[in-house]
Amino acid sequence: MAHTESALPLKSLEGKVAIVTGGASGIGEATARLFADHGVRAVVIADVQEKKGQIVAKSIGTERCSYVHCDVSDEKQVKAMVDFTVEKYGQLDIMFSNAGIRSKSDQTILDFNFSEFETLFGINVRGMAACVKHAARAMVEKGVKGSIVCTASVVATNCRGGTDMTDYVMSKHAILGLVRTASQQLGVHGIRVNCVSPSAIATGMAASAGLSNKEIQMIFGPFTPLKGIALSVNHIADAVLFLASNNSAFVTGHDLVVDGGFISLPHSII
Ligand code: NAD
Repeated sequence: MAHTESALPLKSLEGKVAIVTGGASGIGEATARLFADHGVRAVVIADVQEKKGQIVAKSIGTERCSYVHCDVSDEKQVKAMVDFTVEKYGQLDIMFSNAGIRSKSDQTILDFNFSEFETLFGINVRGMAACVKHAARAMVEKGVKGSIVCTASVVATNCRGGTDMTDYVMSKHAILGLVRTASQQLGVHGIRVNCVSPSAIATGMAASAGLSNKEIQMIFGPFTPLKGIALSVNHIADAVLFLASNNSAFVTGHDLVVDGGFISLPHSII
């Protein structure tokens, strides 16, 4: 996958050690590659897709990229992933807590499926909280003024484009609460906590909903001011790079929306 065209001319990740959860595909993979392009000393890809994760790590270069099998819904595995990173590379500077899923099918509150809800919340909410917790602990322990970035979504602030995705929308709203509270608590340690909120984009997740970027643009294009710009996971990765780097040194508790202007439309039309 091409990953350098949209890269900002930054080199501020030099010497830093990063973890990217959900790094085997989609937004996580693009971001891990961009981190590597921008001089990160090491990047750990944490995922449950062993084969894909190993391939990405190998293509970035095993001298500075490792794959760790980690199901983020299990706090013990999250702690082990952070411990591995600190033991192997000395410290942790950047946590990109990005792994997330959608339920198999959309569901309204009338047909709400609590079993699917629990699986989804285990990954999207408990998993992100565990990643923020253990990254922050490792940073505080080593006196690292690190950056934590979570992946939320445009549906974290409203439900435009996701009105039937009750559990998913609930989970992304929770990420804003996590980012806002953690940023308040960790500022004293010089640790920043932010999130990125993408609009719909074709990745493993969107593909599972059966949509290509072209189809997504056909649906949302009429409601997207920047409709002339091709959808790319690199736009999201660029935003994460900014939040991870020292170029955003005075930014915390922020939700960086990357949606071509989709949710800034004045009233709900979709
Ligand atoms: P993706 O399916 O390509 O990537 C998600 C990755 O997370 C996969 O590699 C998957 O194996 C991994 N993962 C799933 N469960 C896991 C677990 N329990 N532990 C560790 N890793 C796990 O999809 P993506 O779109 O790149 O998703 C990344 C993030 O972006 C998610 O949090 C998603 O909610 C968010 N997001 C996606 C879109 C979109 O339209 N694609 C829009 C807004 C937000």
